[in-house]
Amino acid sequence: MSDDIHEVYAVAYASHGRMRSENYVFGDPHDEMTSITYYVWVIKGPHGVFVVDTGFDDVAAKERARTITHPVGEGLQALGVDSDKVQHVIATHMHWDHAGNYDLFPNARYHVQDTEMAYCTGRCMCHQMLRIPFSERDVHAMVGKVFAYRVEFHDGSEELAPGISVHLVGGHSKGLQCVRVKTRCGHVVLASDCCHLYSHIDEGRVFPITYSIGDTLEGYRKLQKLATSRQHIVPGHDPEVLKLYPAARAGLENWIARLDVAPRV
Ligand SMILES: [Zn+2]
Ligand SMILES: [Zn+2]
Repeated sequence: MSDDIHEVYAVAYASHGRMRSENYVFGDPHDEMTSITYYVWVIKGPHGVFVVDTGFDDVAAKERARTITHPVGEGLQALGVDSDKVQHVIATHMHWDHAGNYDLFPNARYHVQDTEMAYCTGRCMCHQMLRIPFSERDVHAMVGKVFAYRVEFHDGSEELAPGISVHLVGGHSKGLQCVRVKTRCGHVVLASDCCHLYSHIDEGRVFPITYSIGDTLEGYRKLQKLATSRQHIVPGHDPEVLKLYPAARAGLENWIARLDVAPRV
């Protein structure tokens, strides 16, 4: 096996029903109920397991009225990943739905952009509107990891292992990064919240929680450049991902999808 080819999985762990208009700046003319899905992602390959984002736990779910469908740890187990042994966690950004479960990976190093850490601990958090998607507990936990020498900072684009790289995009959160993974089917880009839903990138629309609309829109171009094709971009919250890609194995339908395959178009 080549040393830069990886398997990639989307692991769904929660969902939330909401009005379609809540997903877009300027709303949506079809004001009906829809849902978003919450994921973490797993990269497996010759350099071990990289977990992308850590999701949220029961306590956070109750606080924000979300429904956990399968706890993150359970999804990892179903993929044969022992969270105690995971060495690398990539934190795409520090929003509450991506940066919780902070005790689940006791032996991991965390990969974070300089800008995101400065953002979530700096003056912008004095503004209620910008602070909404952050949890003080998550930020404290990450600061604790910094002092425990468990955080590796990145500034812009950096390769973490052959075939796995992170790229600063910003926009939705100031230091948001995406992850590019080389697979047997080309370069897959885990967009996380650089693109919440397929409709955002396909229609040039923007999710309402945003630090910079301009950087969000420019980010879509960056995702397109990094991915082998538009079909290789995996949005952060679209329920369609579980329908477009096959289950990782029988029994994991609507829960864990394998992303290093040609998606159904
Ligand atoms: Zn976010
Ligand atoms: Zn999110």
